[in-house]
Amino acid sequence: MFGSVKDTALIKNLTLFFGGFLLFTDVFFLIMGIIYDMPVMRYVIYVKLVINTTNIFLILKEHYLLSTGIIYGVILGFMVVGVICTGTTPAFQLYAPGMLVCISYNGYLHKRILKKELPLVMLIAVHILCYIVMYIYAGLAEPLYDIPKSAVIIFVIFNSMATFSIVTIYVLLFHNVAISSEEKLERTALVDNLTGLCNRHYLLAAMDSLQGVSPENTWLAILDIDDFKKINDTYGHNCGDYTLQTVADILKQTCRDCIICRWGGEEFIIVSNSPECETDIAEQLRKNIAAESFRFEKYSFKVTVTIGVSFYDSTLTNDQWISKSDEKLYFGKKNGKNRVVI
Ligand code: GH3
Ligand code: MG
Ligand code: MG
Repeated sequence: MFGSVKDTALIKNLTLFFGGFLLFTDVFFLIMGIIYDMPVMRYVIYVKLVINTTNIFLILKEHYLLSTGIIYGVILGFMVVGVICTGTTPAFQLYAPGMLVCISYNGYLHKRILKKELPLVMLIAVHILCYIVMYIYAGLAEPLYDIPKSAVIIFVIFNSMATFSIVTIYVLLFHNVAISSEEKLERTALVDNLTGLCNRHYLLAAMDSLQGVSPENTWLAILDIDDFKKINDTYGHNCGDYTLQTVADILKQTCRDCIICRWGGEEFIIVSNSPECETDIAEQLRKNIAAESFRFEKYSFKVTVTIGVSFYDSTLTNDQWISKSDEKLYFGKKNGKNRVVI
């Protein structure tokens, strides 16, 4: 039903938190209704207790959308009861701005579960209208109960804390959700899915940032798998994918300090300013790949690569630098493959 296990846990925990919080407030208001003798508030709480307990079962049965709607309705209704019973001084009306998070959460659930947009602006407008009407009512009508100052203070503190807690938890949680979604998007935009190496977008950005950071020793190698099409044609596309992953693993193991990118298809680019001689590393890469026994299902085969390498040259743009290595790779392909051309 939802995107991932993590999403489901978040929705369950957050909805349970809202539902559980309501039950906790019920107990508090029931005690206040008894101590300060407010029968209307007491009767409403009895009804609320039944609704809120049922709601916890709804949440456990994963009816999140329905239960969030109920939570919203119950809090809004109780806010109206609170103002009718005690007026505006005990600050029940604070629940109205606090409930904006409930509307926003409901919008989120609608999108996740029903894949539909909730008319948020309209709902918020109606919500604000309710708030104003309640104030007008409180200005025109006397409260049902004349509660002592101590009770007003307790209500103000409790209602403020309840509103701030819900808003704070919601804001912090959704802040984290927004940050981790952004990070996930960034990762998928810069990483090649098949091999786990960085992709060409990452490489080009990294090359831009290399400019001016003592790039004299920096070299760039383009590595292309020899006769890769044959591997696909002979053993199948899945075996081709396995070959790409294995070559990528060998590159990572052999060249730990390098930027290694899957440039496209069966081509990889390696950039390094490692003090180790570029010939040694490139030759080592070629040898390690040639020495590996590739095994996929019932097939066993060997793979070779051709590598073109060139050094950084301040007169060249990044594209020209890549083309220079590519020309050397082309030369290697034309002259027998399975070799490094510097
Ligand atoms: P050469 O030795 O000249 O490099 O020949 P080659 O066969 O390696 O090169 P060619 O460009 O003719 O073929 C590359 C093939 O790589 C063609 C394409 O179908 C395949 N390929 C590109 N991306 C993928 C991929 O992600 N997975 C698989 N399995 N194959 C891919
Ligand atoms: Mg090739
Ligand atoms: Mg190629």
